[in-house]
Amino acid sequence: MLSDANINNKSEISAGEERVLKDLISALKNKTAAHAYIIEGSGGASRLRCAQTAACSAVCRNIGTDLLPCMKCTDCLKVISGEHTDIKIIYPEKESGKARAEIKVDTVRNLRKDAYIMPAECDWHIYIISESEKMNVNAQNALLKILEEPPENTVFFLLAPSKELLLPTVVSRAQCHTLGKSSTEEIYNIYKEKFPGITADTLKRAAKIQSIFDKIELDESEIKTVNSAYDTVRSFFSEKQPLTEEYLPQGKDELFTVICVMAAAARDIAVSKKDSGAELFIFENEKDFEKAKNNISLRRAIEIYEAFSRAAERLQTAGNVSSILAELFTSVRK
Ligand SMILES: [Zn+2]
Repeated sequence: MLSDANINNKSEISAGEERVLKDLISALKNKTAAHAYIIEGSGGASRLRCAQTAACSAVCRNIGTDLLPCMKCTDCLKVISGEHTDIKIIYPEKESGKARAEIKVDTVRNLRKDAYIMPAECDWHIYIISESEKMNVNAQNALLKILEEPPENTVFFLLAPSKELLLPTVVSRAQCHTLGKSSTEEIYNIYKEKFPGITADTLKRAAKIQSIFDKIELDESEIKTVNSAYDTVRSFFSEKQPLTEEYLPQGKDELFTVICVMAAAARDIAVSKKDSGAELFIFENEKDFEKAKNNISLRRAIEIYEAFSRAAERLQTAGNVSSILAELFTSVRK
């Protein structure tokens, strides 16, 4: 079962998820929803967050001006914890002695019985089938029967790494949404609307950072940090200054941004060593970039990229800051 730890936090929603959510939420709101949606791509936690957030929008008492549900009211929490009468989440189950967890035909048949009863607390019956690729063939055929004569007000969310993992007959009855990385331009446009007070150059830089690390969305103070992170990039990569704590901000969020920028700078060096025409995400000053490129080998650039990416990931999962930095310093000082 996937962890629900981050689901009731709206700030975890990525730009890619938000785009899919807008479609799903407006279809539920306008009562034009299809009977089945496939949500494919990205990671399992992202797919589940997307489906649960859409489902919450059908019951939430505090829909925000961004049209997203609050994820905090009693009704949202019931959905997230899987306790809502009308909104159910189905996970594969593993039988003892069997190697693989499955979603079985009986589970789907039970959904069918359930779906024909009128929803009790909201307008919809919503069934989220997590890891729907783990429905065996009989289960998928049972689902197909429901989709051929769908009970009114019923919506299935079928979550899978790729729709190719489901029977084509099931796919043909569903609308498919693909989660994935958002383009720099899409992110820039979202930022421009949200932060009209920040200059276009800064927002463009922030959008580039976010497009590399799709799971994050930067807030205003983090975006402002993106600019100051450039000094750290120049001193470490171009001027060969050793990385020490004095170059890094104290606050965890700002530290996270600087580390993402550093990872992206190492990425710039690595890709341009392979392809001199590659698009750069961080370096804008040619002189600084030439210096940095001459200072670092391809292998080293990759090592540094990995060290910063690992630190960024660990910072997001509430790791201990000083131990994360200690590990990072050891890896980049080699
Ligand atoms: Zn709510």
